[in-house]
Amino acid sequence: MNAEIIAVGSELLLGQIVNTNAKFISKGLAEIGVNVFHHTVVGDNPERLKKSIEIAEQRADLIIFTGGLGPTKDDLTKETIAKHLNTKLVQDDEAMDSIEAYFQRTKRVMTENNKKQALILEGAKVLPNDYGMAPGMLLQQEEQYYMLLPGPPHEMEPMFTHYGILAIQEKMGTIEKIESRVLRFFGIGEAELETRVESILERQSNPTIAPLAANGEVTLRITAKHTSIEEAKKLIDKTEQEILHLVGDYFYGYDETTIMAEVIKQLEKEKLTIACAESLTAGLFQSEMASHSGVSSIFKGGIVCYSNEAKVKLVQVQENTIEQYGAVSRETAIELAENILQLLDSDIGISFTGVAGPDKLENKPAGTVWIGIARKNKPTKTYLLDLASSRNGNRVRTVKYGCYYLL
Ligand code: ATP
Ligand code: MG
Repeated sequence: MNAEIIAVGSELLLGQIVNTNAKFISKGLAEIGVNVFHHTVVGDNPERLKKSIEIAEQRADLIIFTGGLGPTKDDLTKETIAKHLNTKLVQDDEAMDSIEAYFQRTKRVMTENNKKQALILEGAKVLPNDYGMAPGMLLQQEEQYYMLLPGPPHEMEPMFTHYGILAIQEKMGTIEKIESRVLRFFGIGEAELETRVESILERQSNPTIAPLAANGEVTLRITAKHTSIEEAKKLIDKTEQEILHLVGDYFYGYDETTIMAEVIKQLEKEKLTIACAESLTAGLFQSEMASHSGVSSIFKGGIVCYSNEAKVKLVQVQENTIEQYGAVSRETAIELAENILQLLDSDIGISFTGVAGPDKLENKPAGTVWIGIARKNKPTKTYLLDLASSRNGNRVRTVKYGCYYLL
């Protein structure tokens, strides 16, 4: 789109004032990518104004007028344009209301000629005047646009900034909307994930992709811009598909969700109950599970079996299993998971046994963790972790891995 600015006012030609309006409008148009090829200044004279309009129509899609919208006889911009375009001037009720309100507010008597200010070109979009009476407007006639703005800079500048720019962008179809979506991953490091999706990260411009690692998880925020929110979502969908094609195994959810919330959602959906036997996590898994409301339909409960004694007495682990393999072993994890399932008659039994650290246990290094997952009528699965965080970091990560293997 290219534009011409026509400043109307004899005082501009007489050298009494400087055409700061043209400068202000040009700057605003440049910022939204509208080319301004001509500035015109014309006096308060209908014939010469008409001539200027005809010339501008030859060379600009958008003609912006400032000045001559007021109530006095020399203010004839609207009338001249209406006559030139063969368009009626009609009263805009909202503009009339705000003019009346203005007179009440300032305790002045409204004269008949003030009503003239509420007239707009038929079919025009009104641009409200927050600092005066004469409203601005934008009229479209086929491919030609006419924008009328008041002369006083303290009225024109806020009107153009707050309403004019937006109205032009609307016509250009270039108001960009921003949409974003966060993909959450677990079980993969940030560097590994970035390497795997490198080809997508490299060619990004729209959408953009921002990776972030925190608390043993990695997220990718995909952000797209488009004039239509639907199209922005489509751009995100496409990028998401490409990413999940490469690292979908580690994906667990969108936006603000947590891996525990996803586990609960899934168990609720499948109508499965769960029970836990926790050694190194000492209730962390159950506590986090219980922090979600409505969890009672799936969560049966569990046992904190921190000592070997508790594992034997409370969860009925065979003494010689612990003697032979140790508490931190696949065998103990299996018995804990299977026994808690039996004891609480749940569909799933999950167990955590490991070395939180910082010291070794049973000659196994800190961060060694076994997770057991028993399911009714299915072989029990076990997972060995080799974590490298602090004592509590290891415990928190163990809970997350438990969730990850449940999904
Ligand atoms: P009003 O209702 O005040 O008459 P108007 O829209 O009719 O507003 P004009 O009468 O043309 O506008 O101008 C009013 C005042 O606005 C001028 O006296 C001048 O101070 C200022 N003005 C008008 N045009 C410009 C311009 N191009 N650049 C800077 N100031 C301007
Ligand atoms: Mg005036």
